[in-house]
Amino acid sequence: MLTPQYVKILIGAFSVLPVKLFRCSLCGAEVPFSEVVYIKGNVVICRRCFPTYYVKNCAFLRRRLIGENPQACSFCQFRKNCDSYIASLKGSSEA
Ligand SMILES: [Zn+2]
Repeated sequence: MLTPQYVKILIGAFSVLPVKLFRCSLCGAEVPFSEVVYIKGNVVICRRCFPTYYVKNCAFLRRRLIGENPQACSFCQFRKNCDSYIASLKGSSEA
């Protein structure tokens, strides 16, 4: 028996399934799986936010903040993002 409510649920399921959206934990944008580059537990990070997320959670960030220059940073593909993030941290602490 197809009650109107059941049909509604059915349509809802079909309209959601093909493009399941993930909500980015940083920017809050709903993005398709192809735009998701990082998932850990409840944390979902979209392609756009990943450099920011990576930099902020980098194990070497603290060392760079105290003036060290860990060797791994030389190879980091987000070095530029890290530079500007560190610059913004230092700027805000001095101001
Ligand atoms: Zn995002």
